Amino acid sequence: MDIAQHLKEIRAGLPQEVKLVCVSKFHPVSAILEAYEAGARIFGESRVQEMCAKYEELHEKEDIQWHFIGHLQTNKIKNIVPFVHLIHGVDSPHLLEAINKEAAKVGRIVNCLLQAHIATEETKFGFSDEELLEYVATGEWRNLPYVRVCGLMGMASNTDNEEQVRAEFHHLRELFLKIKNNYFTNVASFKELSMGMSHDYQIAISEGSTMVRIGTAIFGERVY
Ligand SMILES: *Cc1c(COP(=O)(O)O)cnc(C)c1O
Repeated sequence: MDIAQHLKEIRAGLPQEVKLVCVSKFHPVSAILEAYEAGARIFGESRVQEMCAKYEELHEKEDIQWHFIGHLQTNKIKNIVPFVHLIHGVDSPHLLEAINKEAAKVGRIVNCLLQAHIATEETKFGFSDEELLEYVATGEWRNLPYVRVCGLMGMASNTDNEEQVRAEFHHLRELFLKIKNNYFTNVASFKELSMGMSHDYQIAISEGSTMVRIGTAIFGERVY
């Protein structure tokens, strides 16, 4: 598995301003180090315990940004707030409030993305359009000083139907712009649109993604 070569090829196809989250979940620290040596600095993990263990082992690499991309349970927030750089999958007002509470305890402002449910599958987490618009309209997020809402995240349906995937990403971008223009006009930090994985990131980029989350295409298949 030539991680450095994969990274080089992927980067060559990414616009300069698009951030690459290297999804290292289920891969060993040695794989992260290989990517790090090849210039990668943003790593995405989906399980709290695994991310904490890797952070501990690699804490001397202070320029690594750890992104949490999984489903976060409230009782585990405290384990990641001391070091996490961005939490991608905030899917309820309750979770955002709970993150604020734990972040306050350590005196850190934690960056978060609100997850929108854009796929047709029932299993994927996230706010529905209505829930999301309703929540941002309440302005309650303004009263959470220890979280910074940096944008939206979403996952398209797992299908070979390119037009469907494109339509879902397009929809997410429209939602992002609507929310930005109506509620975050003066909030410069609301600027990220995290969408696109190994099999659909090129479509996501053409639909305005600012951050892609790529695992398999860099590190190979995961062994669960
Ligand atoms: C695992 C995962 C990815 C990476 O998926 P690949 O298909 O391996 O690129 C991206 N985003 C989320 C939310 C994930 O859980």
